Amino acid sequence: MALGDYRRKRDFEVTPEPKGSKRAGSGQLSFVVQKHQASRLHYDFRLEWRGVLLSWAVPKGPSLDPKVKRLAMQVEDHPVEYGSFEGVIPEGEYGGGTVMVWDRGTWEPEVDDVDAALKKGELKFTLHGKKLRGSWVLVRTARGWLLIKHRDQYASSEDVLEQSRSAVSKRLLADIARENGGDVEKAAKGDAAPKR
Ligand code: MN
Repeated sequence: MALGDYRRKRDFEVTPEPKGSKRAGSGQLSFVVQKHQASRLHYDFRLEWRGVLLSWAVPKGPSLDPKVKRLAMQVEDHPVEYGSFEGVIPEGEYGGGTVMVWDRGTWEPEVDDVDAALKKGELKFTLHGKKLRGSWVLVRTARGWLLIKHRDQYASSEDVLEQSRSAVSKRLLADIARENGGDVEKAAKGDAAPKR
């Protein structure tokens, strides 16, 4: 796991995204879900592991309903500092658009060997976030990974995506775009995305 792919895709003279250098200092593992209005709205689900953020793009976003399986396409590892990035990636750059820290917190593996679980394609873990809590699983299939909520006290049929504000700033995507010179109209489409 390294940041070569991440850095190759970005021009750090242009984008405000972090280049990545620091390693995580605390013993706890962080997770973040970034709501990203790029060419298409999606949610980037990231788990800190071995000094980087393992990353999956979840087009429909996470669901608290254990019956719902959400496709999660694994993308390049991101720097741990990326978990604090909320702002605007300039149009024309990789992932151009507005990024919100939709949820963040810590995570714990529910398995003894995370590397073996990732290799096998089934990682069970617990999230301690503001919006996402309790037990989850990522399962690899032929089409990509699936992100699924386990049955527990945090499972729900409520649509958690209706909680559309930043976990760190309470802003909407349109607010973030406005304050960072982004495309406010495009960002507002993400705020008004149809409920699924
Ligand atoms: Mn993204």
